Amino acid sequence: MEAEFIHWLRECVPPRPSMPLALTDDAALVRWAGSPHIVVTTDLLSDGVDFRLAVDDPRRVGRKALAVNLSDLAAMAAEPLACFVSIALPSTGIGADQPLELAKLIYAGLLPLAEEFGAFLAGGDTNTHDGPLVISITALGNVSKRGLLMRKGGQPGDKLLVTGALGGSSLGHHLDFTPRVREALVLHENYELHAGIDISDGLALDTSRLAEASGCGAVFNSIVISGNALDLAQQESASDLGAAALRHALGDGEDFELLLAAPPSAADAILSDRPVECPVTCIGELIAEPGLWKQFGNVARTPLEPTGWQH
Ligand SMILES: [Mg+2]
Repeated sequence: MEAEFIHWLRECVPPRPSMPLALTDDAALVRWAGSPHIVVTTDLLSDGVDFRLAVDDPRRVGRKALAVNLSDLAAMAAEPLACFVSIALPSTGIGADQPLELAKLIYAGLLPLAEEFGAFLAGGDTNTHDGPLVISITALGNVSKRGLLMRKGGQPGDKLLVTGALGGSSLGHHLDFTPRVREALVLHENYELHAGIDISDGLALDTSRLAEASGCGAVFNSIVISGNALDLAQQESASDLGAAALRHALGDGEDFELLLAAPPSAADAILSDRPVECPVTCIGELIAEPGLWKQFGNVARTPLEPTGWQH
């Protein structure tokens, strides 16, 4: 199967000057520009945990496997350069009847995204095992001209900005989201950002991570609740829909939006210039006092649990 598969894959992937040996030799050669450093991230997704092959189209699964890596590159404001894709196909159970077809569908989902964001396929491995489908992707990114964006660097008084809306990702957004790579690059290039993270494990948890890394606390004064979070609250017949939707927005995870800390002048400029396509909203600020807090309206500040997905 492997020779035929690699032949098929080579046909799908045009040659790239940045990767002189992609898919031809025992290892890849990747040319990168500028900084002596390269950004590397990896994510492993498995059936039953990160997707459900019984109901999810393998193309959406393949797309997600790459998109979560691109979201991590976006979090560091790195420019995607290459990706390495390793797949363990199931020899029994769901997907085992036509493993080659399954592998091709996974690639059919991820290759267009790789093309769109410049994370070109440089190599990988495909194998079979007696277990569920597992996809592990490693992505490489160039450090942008302005340097890295990191979790540390936020300062008390910084405004907290988020892209998009939050919560209810399990209704489908977790498979189909657009990684905020373009937004991260444009905002980092043109405005002063102090810190950033992608919201993969839940707004509350990831905000507390950024705040802690920056030696600060964080207070929310508004949250952008997605339509999905409201739909989910409705499906659960929650007695207080607003409160349930807010819980989803704070703790669901897999939103894959960006959370950025920017000094007030830069945050105001971003909010008035609207330099990116997706909505950007101020949801709170970093404060000197440690911990996570909420203060909605003219009430006292109260502590907030850093809810989210704990691995
Ligand atoms: Mg991340």
